[in-house]
Amino acid sequence: NSNTQPLDAFWMPFTANRQFKKQPRMLTSAEGMYYQDDKGRPVLDGCAGLWCVNAGHGRKEISEAVARQVAKLDYAPPFQMGHPLAFEFAERLAAIAPEKLNHIFFTNSGSESVETALKIALGYHRLKGDATRQRLVGRERGYHGVNFGGISVGGIGNNRKMFGAGLSGIDHLPHTLNINLNAFTKGLPEHGVELADALEQIIALHDASNIAAVIVEPMSGSGGVIMPPKGYLQRLREITRKHGILLIFDEVITGFGRVGKAFASTRWGVEPDIMTTAKGLTNGVIPMGAVFVSDEIHDAFMTGPENMIELFHGYTYSGHPVACAAGLAALDIYEKENLFDRAIEMEDKFAESLLSMKELPNVIDIRNTGLVAAIELTPEADKPGERGHKVFKHCYENGVLVRWTGDILAMSPPLIIEPAHIDQMVSALREGILIANN
Ligand code: PMP
Repeated sequence: NSNTQPLDAFWMPFTANRQFKKQPRMLTSAEGMYYQDDKGRPVLDGCAGLWCVNAGHGRKEISEAVARQVAKLDYAPPFQMGHPLAFEFAERLAAIAPEKLNHIFFTNSGSESVETALKIALGYHRLKGDATRQRLVGRERGYHGVNFGGISVGGIGNNRKMFGAGLSGIDHLPHTLNINLNAFTKGLPEHGVELADALEQIIALHDASNIAAVIVEPMSGSGGVIMPPKGYLQRLREITRKHGILLIFDEVITGFGRVGKAFASTRWGVEPDIMTTAKGLTNGVIPMGAVFVSDEIHDAFMTGPENMIELFHGYTYSGHPVACAAGLAALDIYEKENLFDRAIEMEDKFAESLLSMKELPNVIDIRNTGLVAAIELTPEADKPGERGHKVFKHCYENGVLVRWTGDILAMSPPLIIEPAHIDQMVSALREGILIANN
């Protein structure tokens, strides 16, 4: 259709993409820590794409593995058939996962991993004869993707407002006891146990025998990069275990080294029953997600009648051979280059550089763990999000990509980052914050 403007055909109308249309920012290639835009300008990738390109861009090991796999076996159905790479990839993932999470269900995205996890939780209780356990508990400000289960357990009201009722039987844990601003915390904030105790109140209200699962991100990502207060995840684990409720960690962002270990559950020493991942699973190169489940859940599904036609779930592209090839190559890089440890090695330098901005105007909090961080700014009067946007824009125009969610700026660079990149990022942020003050 010759009347169609090039920028009208690609349609993704939600939120910031309307602004994108007015002012397109086109990325045309990428290598290592940098994107290149359509004007040939290098842009430092302070976000690992969208929290996913953990080993950096343009990794030949991955693109070559993908090309070889496309030529060898481009597709195999995941039902009734299989192919060796899916088994190999699952084994490799189980080997780096928390101890009992030895079984892996492949999906195509974080959102699908979340839907899959919720369905596994509900199915598990039914298989155990606990059909009343149907309620789910999420958390305020939690982000679990955009499908109906995910927006229902998610705690960002605007993401579901326009789409009707969603799932029923859901409660949300509170997000903080007291807003922890001006904390400039190195390490985790306090009061985790008290905060998690809110789960006991939800249980008292509905009775544990009606609750299937609690789902939280170990560190809230899209909701503002909020670290779990000390003892929070441990206490959730104790309460859920005591009441026979499953605990799901959504590690779509925190998985694959972001917080300094393979998974946040390893870093913070709390093992969930189910863990969702995506993003860094293939270094962002091919869409893929993976849901890890415990031996106990696996065994419940694998006993009983052979042909349970009432229990169906899975995707055409579950365990896609090309995605598995990309994932295996990504895992090889993570392991060979010790990239998960690197996020810990860089943690202090990252924290110190960012904290050097704590006296700047309007900066009300700075927080980080591993290679994920946020700077929180005071909103402009009557214009929430405007100040954050100004900083984002300044940084981008000066060759540094950071993520802007309202007045919270988020950084999650590839794990291959060097100190000089951190300095470049902080210098753009510093200038941006000063300019946004005017
Ligand atoms: N869960 C979490 C914690 C996420 O951060 C995201 C994406 N940012 C998702 C789920 C959804 O992933 P996707 O966009 O791949 O569907």
